[in-house]
Amino acid sequence: MIKNLKRNISLKPYNTFAIEAKAKYFTDVFSISQLKNALQFAKENNFQFKIISGGSNVLFVEQEYEFIIHILIGGIEKTFESEYEIHYKVGAGVKWHTFVKYCVNKGLGGIENLSLIPGSVGASPMQNIGAYGVEIKDVFKSLTALEISTGQLKIFSLKDCKFGYRESVFKNELKNKFIIIDVTYKLLKNPKFNISYGALSGLLEKKELSVSTISDAVISIRQSKLPDPSVIGNAGSFFKNPEVSNERFNKLKEKYPEIPSYNLENGNVKIPAGWLIETCGWKGFRKNDAGCHKHQALVLVNYGSATGNEILDLSDEIVSSVKQKFGIELQKEVNILK
Ligand SMILES: Cc1cc2nc3c(=O)[nH]c(=O)nc-3n(C[C@H](O)[C@H](O)[C@H](O)COP(=O)(O)OP(=O)(O)OC[C@H]3O[C@@H](n4cnc5c(N)ncnc54)[C@H](O)[C@@H]3O)c2cc1C
Repeated sequence: MIKNLKRNISLKPYNTFAIEAKAKYFTDVFSISQLKNALQFAKENNFQFKIISGGSNVLFVEQEYEFIIHILIGGIEKTFESEYEIHYKVGAGVKWHTFVKYCVNKGLGGIENLSLIPGSVGASPMQNIGAYGVEIKDVFKSLTALEISTGQLKIFSLKDCKFGYRESVFKNELKNKFIIIDVTYKLLKNPKFNISYGALSGLLEKKELSVSTISDAVISIRQSKLPDPSVIGNAGSFFKNPEVSNERFNKLKEKYPEIPSYNLENGNVKIPAGWLIETCGWKGFRKNDAGCHKHQALVLVNYGSATGNEILDLSDEIVSSVKQKFGIELQKEVNILK
């Protein structure tokens, strides 16, 4: 038997969607040895287990899960310092924004644009979290992960992680094969600021640029634009913004001249999924307690007692209507825990 083992608990406080689901067994894990014990417990009892941390990018669709392992491994350790850079190794369970504040308070640059993203450090490489023109791959040095099948620790470099837009090797070929223990980031002593995002440059127009003014501006934009999960259950953007070829985009533009877009370096074009969803008429839609947010069509919400499957069904309906109207298949950003 392992320490910290809880039985028959509600998972509602452990997911920002505030979906009601149960865990038959649940454990908080603060160290590698506790994690190994938890995996051993799962193996001995032949339990299927799921890993969660902040619960801000998951949708629980089962009524009951056999075993939930909640990653809370802490610690921030300086591993390298030069004239230009500092590297920090950060425990997977540290809250992402806690680490952002830690760096911002020291005037270190690189992650100020990623202020206030919910969730943990350990989940940040899962989907290469990003916002306002910055992604964690830009500051990523390496990570340590435990291989579930062998219990061995492995170091992953930037290349190994195969980061893409809201993608990494851990969401694809290595899905459910590794548990991230810590992540090492490189921060700059003389920051290079990125305020290319329109609303950010507008807000900072007459201000002296520093990591702290940029972080404050990002926080205020996020607070004004995104629904707060403590008020209404959600997991941020439910879908990824789709990428299409330039040729395909030009055809869409003929039909929908107002279609917004961003040109990508690879020659393709990214289209805001929120616009596609809104144009299909979903913004503000509500069925029972599952809905599409009234101001942010990209965000699906739980008005109180929606089930995970009601949210999932709504997301599937949205995907098929966007596909029908625009011929574009939206991909889900949120992890559906089955
Ligand atoms: C209001 C709101 C705004 C958001 N804005 C953004 C944004 O701007 N940009 C962005 O990129 N994301 C955004 N998100 C999504 C979310 O914050 C991130 O994806 C975050 O990294 C999730 O962290 P978490 O700890 O909550 O992960 P969880 O939701 O607990 O887990 C997410 C996935 O990672 C796995 N996982 C978690 N920890 C580990 C680990 N240690 N090892 C292996 N697997 C693990 C889980 O099994 C699950 O599949 C937003 C979410 C909300 C609610």
